[in-house]
Amino acid sequence: MSARSGQQFIDHLKATPRDVWINGEQVQDVTTHPAFSASVEQLAKLYDMQVAKETEDQTTYIVPETGERAGLAFMPAMNTADLTKKREGYLLWAQQNFGLMGRSPDFLNCSLLAFWEARELAGKNGPEFPERIAKYYEYVRDNDLFLSHALLSPQNDRSKPSSEQAELHMRVVKETDEGIYISGGRMIATLGPVSDEMLMYSLPGLRPGDEDHALMFAVPTNSNGLRQICREPYTLAGQKSDFDHPLSNRFEENDSLLIFDNCFVPWDRVFIYRDVQLSNEYYITSSLRNHTAHQTNTRALVKMQFAVGVAMEVARSMGADAFLHVQSMLGESLNHIEFLKSGLLHSEVACEATQVGTVRPLLGPLQALRTYLPTAYPRVVEIIQTIAAGGFMMMPSGADFLADELKEDTQRFYSGANISSLDRARLFKLAWDLSGEAFGTRALQYERYYAGDPMRTRAMNYMGADDVEPKRLVNAALALAGDPEPAKR
Ligand SMILES: Cc1cc2nc3c(=O)[nH]c(=O)nc-3n(C[C@H](O)[C@H](O)[C@H](O)COP(=O)(O)OP(=O)(O)OC[C@H]3O[C@@H](n4cnc5c(N)ncnc54)[C@H](O)[C@@H]3O)c2cc1C
Repeated sequence: MSARSGQQFIDHLKATPRDVWINGEQVQDVTTHPAFSASVEQLAKLYDMQVAKETEDQTTYIVPETGERAGLAFMPAMNTADLTKKREGYLLWAQQNFGLMGRSPDFLNCSLLAFWEARELAGKNGPEFPERIAKYYEYVRDNDLFLSHALLSPQNDRSKPSSEQAELHMRVVKETDEGIYISGGRMIATLGPVSDEMLMYSLPGLRPGDEDHALMFAVPTNSNGLRQICREPYTLAGQKSDFDHPLSNRFEENDSLLIFDNCFVPWDRVFIYRDVQLSNEYYITSSLRNHTAHQTNTRALVKMQFAVGVAMEVARSMGADAFLHVQSMLGESLNHIEFLKSGLLHSEVACEATQVGTVRPLLGPLQALRTYLPTAYPRVVEIIQTIAAGGFMMMPSGADFLADELKEDTQRFYSGANISSLDRARLFKLAWDLSGEAFGTRALQYERYYAGDPMRTRAMNYMGADDVEPKRLVNAALALAGDPEPAKR
Protein backbone atom coordinates (compact mmCIF):
# COMPACT_ATOMS: atom_id res chain seq x y z
CA MET A 1 0.00 0.00 0.00
CA SER A 2 1.04 3.58 -0.62
CA ALA A 3 0.79 6.81 1.43
CA ARG A 4 -2.84 7.27 2.43
CA SER A 5 -5.42 9.91 1.52
CA GLY A 6 -7.66 11.58 4.10
CA GLN A 7 -10.60 9.37 3.14
CA GLN A 8 -8.52 6.22 3.62
CA PHE A 9 -7.52 7.47 7.07
CA ILE A 10 -11.19 8.08 7.96
CA ASP A 11 -12.34 4.73 6.52
CA HIS A 12 -9.79 2.88 8.66
CA LEU A 13 -10.94 4.68 11.81
CA LYS A 14 -14.56 3.79 11.02
CA ALA A 15 -13.62 0.15 10.46
CA THR A 16 -11.85 -0.10 13.85
CA PRO A 17 -14.26 0.96 16.62
CA ARG A 18 -12.37 1.53 19.86
CA ASP A 19 -13.20 1.86 23.56
CA VAL A 20 -13.19 5.65 24.00
CA TRP A 21 -15.05 7.61 26.68
CA ILE A 22 -15.68 11.34 26.90
CA ASN A 23 -18.02 13.31 29.17
CA GLY A 24 -19.33 10.04 30.63
CA GLU A 25 -20.32 8.72 27.22
CA GLN A 26 -18.86 5.87 25.16
CA VAL A 27 -18.04 7.14 21.68
CA GLN A 28 -19.59 5.12 18.84
CA ASP A 29 -17.71 6.65 15.92
CA VAL A 30 -14.77 9.00 16.52
CA THR A 31 -14.96 10.34 12.98
CA THR A 32 -18.41 11.86 13.53
CA HIS A 33 -18.43 12.56 17.28
CA PRO A 34 -18.43 16.36 17.85
CA ALA A 35 -15.42 16.13 20.22
CA PHE A 36 -13.22 14.51 17.55
CA SER A 37 -14.65 15.29 14.11
CA ALA A 38 -12.68 18.54 13.74
CA SER A 39 -9.31 16.93 14.48
CA VAL A 40 -10.15 14.00 12.18
CA GLU A 41 -10.91 16.52 9.43
CA GLN A 42 -7.62 18.35 10.03
CA LEU A 43 -5.62 15.12 9.99
CA ALA A 44 -7.43 14.01 6.84
CA LYS A 45 -6.36 17.27 5.16
CA LEU A 46 -2.73 16.45 5.97
CA TYR A 47 -3.09 12.96 4.53
CA ASP A 48 -4.72 14.41 1.40
CA MET A 49 -1.56 16.43 0.79
CA GLN A 50 0.27 13.12 0.37
CA VAL A 51 -1.83 12.17 -2.64
CA ALA A 52 -2.34 15.62 -4.21
CA LYS A 53 -0.10 16.10 -7.27
CA GLU A 54 1.01 19.60 -6.13
CA THR A 55 2.21 18.45 -2.70
CA GLU A 56 3.04 14.72 -2.96
CA ASP A 57 6.74 15.35 -3.59
CA GLN A 58 6.99 17.63 -0.54
CA THR A 59 5.18 15.26 1.84
CA THR A 60 6.19 11.78 0.66
CA TYR A 61 9.14 9.87 -0.81
CA ILE A 62 9.41 6.71 -2.89
CA VAL A 63 10.54 3.75 -0.80
CA PRO A 64 13.33 2.06 -2.80
CA GLU A 65 12.39 -1.46 -1.59
CA THR A 66 8.70 -1.21 -2.60
CA GLY A 67 8.59 1.50 -5.27
CA GLU A 68 5.59 2.96 -3.39
CA ARG A 69 5.18 6.39 -1.80
CA ALA A 70 5.40 6.72 2.01
CA GLY A 71 5.21 9.67 4.40
CA LEU A 72 8.41 11.73 4.30
CA ALA A 73 9.00 11.43 8.06
CA PHE A 74 9.73 7.70 7.59
CA MET A 75 12.56 8.49 5.19
CA PRO A 76 16.08 7.69 6.41
CA ALA A 77 18.28 10.70 5.64
CA MET A 78 21.67 10.21 3.98
CA ASN A 79 22.90 13.82 4.13
CA THR A 80 22.08 17.41 5.05
CA ALA A 81 19.98 17.88 1.91
CA ASP A 82 17.69 15.00 2.96
CA LEU A 83 17.27 16.53 6.43
CA THR A 84 16.41 19.88 4.87
CA LYS A 85 13.86 18.19 2.61
CA LYS A 86 12.31 16.53 5.65
CA ARG A 87 12.14 19.85 7.51
CA GLU A 88 10.39 21.45 4.55
CA GLY A 89 7.82 18.62 4.61
CA TYR A 90 7.26 19.05 8.37
CA LEU A 91 6.93 22.80 7.80
CA LEU A 92 4.29 22.42 5.11
CA TRP A 93 2.13 20.22 7.35
CA ALA A 94 2.58 22.49 10.39
CA GLN A 95 1.56 25.53 8.36
CA GLN A 96 -1.87 23.92 7.75
CA ASN A 97 -2.66 24.18 11.47
CA PHE A 98 -0.44 27.15 12.49
CA GLY A 99 1.79 24.71 14.38
CA LEU A 100 -1.05 24.07 16.83
CA MET A 101 -1.33 20.32 16.24
CA GLY A 102 1.66 18.91 18.06
CA ARG A 103 0.99 15.26 17.43
CA SER A 104 0.47 15.24 13.66
CA PRO A 105 1.46 11.84 12.18
CA ASP A 106 5.01 12.93 11.30
CA PHE A 107 5.92 13.09 15.02
CA LEU A 108 5.66 9.36 15.69
CA ASN A 109 6.60 8.37 12.15
CA CYS A 110 10.05 9.85 12.69
CA SER A 111 10.20 8.26 16.18
CA LEU A 112 9.70 4.87 14.56
CA LEU A 113 12.44 5.68 12.05
CA ALA A 114 14.76 6.30 15.05
CA PHE A 115 13.83 2.92 16.55
CA TRP A 116 14.50 1.25 13.20
CA GLU A 117 17.90 2.93 12.91
CA ALA A 118 18.82 1.75 16.44
CA ARG A 119 17.21 -1.70 16.16
CA GLU A 120 20.46 -3.60 16.79
CA LEU A 121 20.44 -2.25 20.37
CA ALA A 122 17.31 -4.31 21.01
CA GLY A 123 19.37 -7.40 20.20
CA LYS A 124 20.39 -7.33 23.88
CA ASN A 125 16.94 -8.79 24.60
CA GLY A 126 17.37 -11.58 22.05
CA PRO A 127 18.37 -12.00 18.39
CA GLU A 128 14.75 -11.81 17.19
CA PHE A 129 14.06 -8.33 18.63
CA PRO A 130 15.82 -6.15 15.97
CA GLU A 131 13.97 -7.98 13.19
CA ARG A 132 10.64 -7.35 14.94
CA ILE A 133 11.36 -3.62 15.05
CA ALA A 134 12.35 -3.60 11.37
CA LYS A 135 9.12 -5.43 10.40
CA TYR A 136 6.96 -3.09 12.47
CA TYR A 137 8.60 -0.01 10.95
CA GLU A 138 7.89 -1.38 7.46
CA TYR A 139 4.32 -2.31 8.42
CA VAL A 140 3.49 1.16 9.74
CA ARG A 141 5.32 2.91 6.88
CA ASP A 142 3.74 0.81 4.12
CA ASN A 143 0.22 0.99 5.59
CA ASP A 144 0.72 4.64 6.59
CA LEU A 145 -0.80 4.07 10.03
CA PHE A 146 -1.31 6.90 12.51
CA LEU A 147 0.42 6.24 15.83
CA SER A 148 -0.13 7.71 19.26
CA HIS A 149 1.89 7.12 22.43
CA ALA A 150 1.79 7.62 26.22
CA LEU A 151 5.22 7.52 27.81
CA LEU A 152 4.41 8.22 31.44
CA SER A 153 2.87 6.40 34.30
CA PRO A 154 -0.21 8.20 35.55
CA GLN A 155 0.45 11.02 37.99
CA ASN A 156 -0.38 9.14 41.20
CA ASP A 157 2.56 9.46 43.58
CA ARG A 158 5.69 10.81 41.92
CA SER A 159 7.80 10.20 45.04
CA LYS A 160 7.56 6.42 44.54
CA PRO A 161 8.85 4.20 41.70
CA SER A 162 6.36 2.32 39.54
CA SER A 163 7.22 -0.93 41.31
CA GLU A 164 5.71 0.53 44.51
CA GLN A 165 2.40 1.42 42.83
CA ALA A 166 2.44 -1.40 40.31
CA GLU A 167 -1.30 -2.02 40.24
CA LEU A 168 -1.86 1.52 38.87
CA HIS A 169 0.97 1.62 36.31
CA MET A 170 1.19 -0.15 32.97
CA ARG A 171 3.03 -3.47 33.36
CA VAL A 172 3.24 -7.00 32.07
CA VAL A 173 0.93 -9.30 34.05
CA LYS A 174 1.21 -12.57 32.14
CA GLU A 175 3.44 -14.23 29.57
CA THR A 176 2.47 -17.12 27.25
CA ASP A 177 4.01 -18.76 24.18
CA GLU A 178 1.90 -16.43 22.01
CA GLY A 179 2.69 -13.14 23.72
CA ILE A 180 2.24 -11.00 26.81
CA TYR A 181 -0.70 -9.45 28.66
CA ILE A 182 -0.64 -5.84 29.82
CA SER A 183 -2.60 -4.08 32.58
CA GLY A 184 -2.47 -0.64 34.18
CA GLY A 185 -2.58 3.03 33.22
CA ARG A 186 -0.46 5.35 31.09
CA MET A 187 -0.70 9.10 30.47
CA ILE A 188 -1.32 10.89 28.12
CA ALA A 189 -2.13 9.98 24.55
CA THR A 190 -2.71 13.12 22.53
CA LEU A 191 -4.98 12.26 19.59
CA GLY A 192 -5.04 8.71 21.02
CA PRO A 193 -8.79 8.36 20.37
CA VAL A 194 -8.28 8.91 16.62
CA SER A 195 -5.06 6.91 16.24
CA ASP A 196 -4.64 3.54 14.54
CA GLU A 197 -1.98 2.09 16.84
CA MET A 198 -0.37 2.78 20.21
CA LEU A 199 3.42 2.63 20.31
CA MET A 200 4.30 2.16 23.97
CA TYR A 201 7.72 2.90 25.44
CA SER A 202 9.04 4.88 28.43
CA LEU A 203 10.91 8.03 29.24
CA PRO A 204 14.24 7.20 30.92
CA GLY A 205 14.14 7.04 34.70
CA LEU A 206 12.98 3.48 35.33
CA ARG A 207 14.81 1.95 38.29
CA PRO A 208 15.93 -1.59 39.19
CA GLY A 209 12.77 -3.32 40.41
CA ASP A 210 10.71 -1.68 37.62
CA GLU A 211 11.32 -4.64 35.23
CA ASP A 212 7.60 -5.35 34.71
CA HIS A 213 7.19 -1.76 33.50
CA ALA A 214 10.28 -1.71 31.27
CA LEU A 215 8.60 -2.53 27.97
CA MET A 216 8.36 -1.36 24.40
CA PHE A 217 5.51 -2.74 22.30
CA ALA A 218 2.76 -1.77 19.88
CA VAL A 219 -0.95 -2.60 19.78
CA PRO A 220 -3.82 -1.54 17.55
CA THR A 221 -5.92 1.17 19.22
CA ASN A 222 -9.01 -1.04 18.91
CA SER A 223 -7.41 -3.92 20.87
CA ASN A 224 -9.55 -5.71 23.42
CA GLY A 225 -8.58 -4.52 26.87
CA LEU A 226 -7.45 -1.03 25.84
CA ARG A 227 -9.69 1.77 27.07
CA GLN A 228 -9.24 5.54 26.72
CA ILE A 229 -10.83 8.10 29.00
CA CYS A 230 -10.52 11.61 27.53
CA ARG A 231 -10.24 14.94 29.24
CA GLU A 232 -13.19 17.29 28.93
CA PRO A 233 -13.34 18.71 25.39
CA TYR A 234 -12.84 22.47 25.09
CA THR A 235 -15.24 22.71 22.17
CA LEU A 236 -17.73 20.50 20.37
CA ALA A 237 -18.32 20.76 16.62
CA GLY A 238 -21.14 23.16 15.83
CA GLN A 239 -21.42 24.48 19.39
CA LYS A 240 -19.43 27.72 19.09
CA SER A 241 -19.09 30.08 16.13
CA ASP A 242 -15.97 30.18 13.99
CA PHE A 243 -15.88 33.97 14.34
CA ASP A 244 -15.53 33.65 18.12
CA HIS A 245 -13.35 30.51 18.16
CA PRO A 246 -11.50 30.12 14.85
CA LEU A 247 -8.69 28.00 16.35
CA SER A 248 -10.34 25.87 19.04
CA ASN A 249 -13.12 24.91 16.60
CA ARG A 250 -10.55 23.31 14.31
CA PHE A 251 -7.29 22.39 15.96
CA GLU A 252 -8.11 20.92 19.34
CA GLU A 253 -6.21 17.67 19.91
CA ASN A 254 -7.94 15.67 22.58
CA ASP A 255 -5.80 13.86 25.17
CA SER A 256 -6.62 10.60 26.91
CA LEU A 257 -5.55 8.36 29.76
CA LEU A 258 -4.88 4.83 28.55
CA ILE A 259 -6.12 1.95 30.68
CA PHE A 260 -4.88 -1.53 29.77
CA ASP A 261 -6.81 -4.45 31.21
CA ASN A 262 -5.23 -7.78 30.27
CA CYS A 263 -4.57 -6.47 26.80
CA PHE A 264 -2.83 -9.09 24.64
CA VAL A 265 0.35 -8.22 22.72
CA PRO A 266 1.73 -10.89 20.37
CA TRP A 267 5.50 -11.49 20.61
CA ASP A 268 6.16 -9.97 17.20
CA ARG A 269 4.95 -6.63 18.59
CA VAL A 270 7.14 -6.77 21.72
CA PHE A 271 10.34 -4.77 21.13
CA ILE A 272 11.83 -4.40 24.64
CA TYR A 273 10.90 -6.87 27.34
CA ARG A 274 11.46 -6.43 31.08
CA ASP A 275 14.79 -4.67 30.64
CA VAL A 276 15.17 -1.48 32.69
CA GLN A 277 18.64 -0.64 31.41
CA LEU A 278 17.73 -1.14 27.76
CA SER A 279 14.51 0.85 28.09
CA ASN A 280 16.39 3.82 29.61
CA GLU A 281 19.27 3.45 27.14
CA TYR A 282 17.13 3.18 23.99
CA TYR A 283 15.65 6.60 24.60
CA ILE A 284 19.06 8.21 25.05
CA THR A 285 21.22 6.25 22.56
CA SER A 286 18.83 5.98 19.61
CA SER A 287 18.15 9.00 17.38
CA LEU A 288 14.72 9.40 18.94
CA ARG A 289 15.40 12.83 20.43
CA ASN A 290 17.22 14.01 17.29
CA HIS A 291 14.43 13.13 14.87
CA THR A 292 11.50 14.14 17.05
CA ALA A 293 13.14 17.43 18.05
CA HIS A 294 13.82 18.19 14.38
CA GLN A 295 10.13 17.68 13.62
CA THR A 296 8.77 19.42 16.72
CA ASN A 297 11.06 22.43 16.56
CA THR A 298 9.98 22.93 12.93
CA ARG A 299 6.36 22.81 14.04
CA ALA A 300 7.16 25.11 16.97
CA LEU A 301 8.75 27.58 14.55
CA VAL A 302 5.41 27.91 12.76
CA LYS A 303 3.56 28.27 16.06
CA MET A 304 6.04 30.90 17.23
CA GLN A 305 5.78 32.86 13.95
CA PHE A 306 2.00 32.75 14.28
CA ALA A 307 1.95 33.87 17.94
CA VAL A 308 4.43 36.67 17.28
CA GLY A 309 2.35 37.73 14.27
CA VAL A 310 -0.75 37.90 16.48
CA ALA A 311 1.14 39.98 19.08
CA MET A 312 2.28 42.46 16.41
CA GLU A 313 -1.16 42.77 14.78
CA VAL A 314 -2.85 43.31 18.15
CA ALA A 315 -0.36 46.07 18.99
CA ARG A 316 -0.81 47.71 15.57
CA SER A 317 -4.61 47.50 15.73
CA MET A 318 -4.64 49.86 18.72
CA GLY A 319 -1.58 52.00 18.00
CA ALA A 320 0.28 50.45 20.96
CA ASP A 321 3.28 49.68 18.77
CA ALA A 322 4.13 53.38 19.01
CA PHE A 323 5.36 52.83 22.60
CA LEU A 324 9.00 51.95 23.24
CA HIS A 325 8.36 49.13 25.74
CA VAL A 326 5.82 47.49 23.42
CA GLN A 327 8.35 47.66 20.58
CA SER A 328 10.88 46.09 22.92
CA MET A 329 8.52 43.20 23.78
CA LEU A 330 7.81 42.61 20.09
CA GLY A 331 11.52 42.74 19.27
CA GLU A 332 12.17 40.21 22.02
CA SER A 333 9.47 37.95 20.53
CA LEU A 334 10.98 38.16 17.05
CA ASN A 335 14.30 36.90 18.48
CA HIS A 336 12.67 33.55 19.28
CA ILE A 337 11.91 33.00 15.58
CA GLU A 338 15.54 33.61 14.67
CA PHE A 339 16.81 31.24 17.38
CA LEU A 340 14.50 28.50 16.12
CA LYS A 341 15.55 28.96 12.49
CA SER A 342 19.25 29.02 13.40
CA GLY A 343 19.11 25.93 15.63
CA LEU A 344 17.27 23.92 12.98
CA LEU A 345 19.80 24.84 10.28
CA HIS A 346 22.74 24.16 12.57
CA SER A 347 21.35 20.70 13.44
CA GLU A 348 21.14 19.83 9.74
CA VAL A 349 24.49 21.22 8.63
CA ALA A 350 26.31 19.53 11.53
CA CYS A 351 24.42 16.22 11.16
CA GLU A 352 26.07 13.03 12.35
CA ALA A 353 26.07 9.36 11.33
CA THR A 354 23.72 6.85 12.96
CA GLN A 355 24.35 3.19 13.82
CA VAL A 356 23.26 2.17 10.28
CA GLY A 357 25.08 4.76 8.18
CA THR A 358 22.16 7.15 7.78
CA VAL A 359 22.40 10.62 9.31
CA ARG A 360 20.58 12.36 12.11
CA PRO A 361 20.38 16.07 12.93
CA LEU A 362 22.76 17.19 15.67
CA LEU A 363 21.08 16.93 19.07
CA GLY A 364 22.72 19.89 20.89
CA PRO A 365 20.96 22.80 19.14
CA LEU A 366 17.67 20.90 19.01
CA GLN A 367 17.71 20.09 22.73
CA ALA A 368 18.64 23.68 23.48
CA LEU A 369 15.52 24.81 21.61
CA ARG A 370 13.38 22.18 23.28
CA THR A 371 14.33 23.40 26.73
CA TYR A 372 14.14 27.05 25.69
CA LEU A 373 10.59 26.90 24.28
CA PRO A 374 8.94 26.03 27.63
CA THR A 375 9.78 29.57 28.74
CA ALA A 376 9.92 31.37 25.36
CA TYR A 377 6.43 30.39 24.16
CA PRO A 378 4.64 31.24 27.45
CA ARG A 379 6.49 34.58 27.37
CA VAL A 380 5.06 35.40 23.93
CA VAL A 381 1.59 34.47 25.16
CA GLU A 382 2.15 36.76 28.14
CA ILE A 383 3.16 39.53 25.71
CA ILE A 384 -0.05 39.08 23.71
CA GLN A 385 -2.03 39.29 26.95
CA THR A 386 -0.05 42.31 28.17
CA ILE A 387 -0.54 44.28 24.96
CA ALA A 388 -4.21 43.39 24.45
CA ALA A 389 -4.94 44.10 28.14
CA GLY A 390 -8.64 44.81 28.79
CA GLY A 391 -9.31 44.93 25.06
CA PHE A 392 -10.05 41.22 25.19
CA MET A 393 -12.89 41.82 27.60
CA MET A 394 -14.28 44.73 25.61
CA MET A 395 -15.00 42.56 22.58
CA PRO A 396 -18.58 41.40 21.88
CA SER A 397 -19.38 38.07 20.30
CA GLY A 398 -19.84 37.70 16.56
CA ALA A 399 -23.60 37.45 17.12
CA ASP A 400 -23.70 41.08 18.32
CA PHE A 401 -22.57 42.19 14.86
CA LEU A 402 -25.68 40.54 13.45
CA ALA A 403 -28.19 42.31 15.72
CA ASP A 404 -29.87 45.12 13.77
CA GLU A 405 -30.42 47.23 16.87
CA LEU A 406 -26.70 47.12 17.71
CA LYS A 407 -25.42 47.76 14.18
CA GLU A 408 -24.55 51.42 14.66
CA ASP A 409 -22.79 50.80 17.98
CA THR A 410 -20.88 47.69 16.89
CA GLN A 411 -19.63 49.45 13.77
CA ARG A 412 -18.41 52.49 15.75
CA PHE A 413 -17.12 51.56 19.17
CA TYR A 414 -14.82 48.65 18.41
CA SER A 415 -12.81 50.32 15.68
CA GLY A 416 -9.06 50.69 16.20
CA ALA A 417 -6.09 52.48 14.70
CA ASN A 418 -6.83 52.19 10.97
CA ILE A 419 -8.94 49.06 11.44
CA SER A 420 -12.71 48.60 11.30
CA SER A 421 -14.74 47.38 14.26
CA LEU A 422 -15.42 44.03 12.64
CA ASP A 423 -11.79 43.40 11.69
CA ARG A 424 -10.57 44.41 15.13
CA ALA A 425 -13.09 42.13 16.88
CA ARG A 426 -12.09 39.25 14.55
CA LEU A 427 -8.41 39.81 15.44
CA PHE A 428 -9.02 40.02 19.19
CA LYS A 429 -11.17 36.87 19.12
CA LEU A 430 -8.34 35.04 17.38
CA ALA A 431 -5.83 36.37 19.91
CA TRP A 432 -8.03 35.32 22.84
CA ASP A 433 -8.51 31.84 21.38
CA LEU A 434 -4.71 31.55 21.22
CA SER A 435 -3.80 33.13 24.54
CA GLY A 436 -6.79 33.05 26.86
CA GLU A 437 -9.24 30.24 26.12
CA ALA A 438 -8.83 26.71 27.48
CA PHE A 439 -7.59 25.79 24.00
CA GLY A 440 -4.83 28.42 24.15
CA THR A 441 -3.88 27.46 27.68
CA ARG A 442 -3.45 23.84 26.61
CA ALA A 443 -1.38 25.00 23.63
CA LEU A 444 0.87 26.78 26.14
CA GLN A 445 1.00 23.82 28.53
CA TYR A 446 1.91 21.68 25.53
CA GLU A 447 5.07 23.69 24.82
CA ARG A 448 5.95 23.59 28.50
CA TYR A 449 5.69 19.84 28.90
CA TYR A 450 5.20 17.90 25.68
CA ALA A 451 8.82 16.76 25.59
CA GLY A 452 9.03 15.89 29.28
CA ASP A 453 9.77 18.03 32.31
CA PRO A 454 12.06 20.84 30.98
CA MET A 455 13.76 21.11 34.36
CA ARG A 456 14.92 17.50 34.21
CA THR A 457 15.76 17.76 30.50
CA ARG A 458 18.02 20.74 31.19
CA ALA A 459 19.66 18.74 33.97
CA MET A 460 20.18 15.90 31.46
CA ASN A 461 21.82 18.42 29.08
CA TYR A 462 24.29 19.23 31.82
CA MET A 463 24.96 15.60 32.75
CA GLY A 464 25.77 14.72 29.12
CA ALA A 465 27.43 18.04 28.31
CA ASP A 466 30.08 18.47 25.64
CA ASP A 467 32.28 20.72 27.79
CA VAL A 468 35.57 20.41 25.89
CA GLU A 469 35.75 23.99 24.59
CA PRO A 470 34.40 25.73 27.73
CA LYS A 471 36.96 23.76 29.78
CA ARG A 472 39.78 24.55 27.34
CA LEU A 473 39.04 28.27 27.57
CA VAL A 474 38.92 28.25 31.35
CA ASN A 475 42.20 26.31 31.54
CA ALA A 476 43.84 28.74 29.11
CA ALA A 477 42.75 31.66 31.32
CA LEU A 478 43.91 29.84 34.49
CA ALA A 479 47.31 29.36 32.86
CA LEU A 480 47.54 33.15 32.59
CA ALA A 481 47.08 33.35 36.35
CA GLY A 482 49.84 30.85 37.11
CA ASP A 483 50.98 30.34 40.74
CA PRO A 484 50.97 33.00 43.50
CA GLU A 485 54.00 35.28 43.37
CA PRO A 486 54.78 38.81 44.60
CA ALA A 487 53.14 41.56 42.51
CA LYS A 488 55.38 42.87 39.71
CA ARG A 489 56.20 46.55 39.93
C1 LIG B 1 -0.78 19.18 26.35
C2 LIG B 1 0.10 18.00 26.60
C3 LIG B 1 0.12 16.95 25.68
C4 LIG B 1 0.93 15.83 25.92
N1 LIG B 1 0.91 14.79 25.01
C5 LIG B 1 1.63 13.67 25.29
C6 LIG B 1 1.59 12.55 24.42
O1 LIG B 1 0.94 12.54 23.37
N2 LIG B 1 2.29 11.44 24.76
C7 LIG B 1 3.04 11.39 25.90
O2 LIG B 1 3.67 10.38 26.16
N3 LIG B 1 3.09 12.44 26.75
C8 LIG B 1 2.40 13.57 26.47
N4 LIG B 1 2.46 14.63 27.33
C9 LIG B 1 2.98 14.35 28.71
C10 LIG B 1 4.30 14.90 28.97
O3 LIG B 1 5.26 13.98 28.50
C11 LIG B 1 4.39 15.10 30.49
O4 LIG B 1 3.44 16.06 30.88
C12 LIG B 1 5.76 15.51 30.92
O5 LIG B 1 6.68 14.47 30.70
C13 LIG B 1 5.81 15.87 32.42
O6 LIG B 1 5.34 14.79 33.17
P1 LIG B 1 4.10 14.94 34.15
O7 LIG B 1 3.06 15.75 33.47
O8 LIG B 1 3.74 13.60 34.61
O9 LIG B 1 4.64 15.81 35.33
P2 LIG B 1 5.35 15.24 36.65
O10 LIG B 1 6.51 14.41 36.28
O11 LIG B 1 4.33 14.59 37.51
O12 LIG B 1 5.85 16.58 37.31
C14 LIG B 1 4.98 17.41 38.07
C15 LIG B 1 5.85 18.38 38.88
O13 LIG B 1 6.63 17.65 39.83
C16 LIG B 1 8.05 17.76 39.57
N5 LIG B 1 8.60 16.39 39.62
C17 LIG B 1 7.93 15.23 39.49
N6 LIG B 1 8.75 14.17 39.59
C18 LIG B 1 9.99 14.67 39.75
C19 LIG B 1 11.28 14.07 39.89
N7 LIG B 1 11.45 12.75 39.88
N8 LIG B 1 12.35 14.89 40.01
C20 LIG B 1 12.19 16.23 40.01
N9 LIG B 1 10.98 16.84 39.89
C21 LIG B 1 9.90 16.08 39.76
C22 LIG B 1 8.15 18.34 38.14
O14 LIG B 1 9.30 19.16 37.98
C23 LIG B 1 6.85 19.13 38.00
O15 LIG B 1 6.99 20.42 38.49
C24 LIG B 1 1.72 15.77 27.09
C25 LIG B 1 1.70 16.84 28.00
C26 LIG B 1 0.91 17.94 27.77
C27 LIG B 1 0.92 19.06 28.77
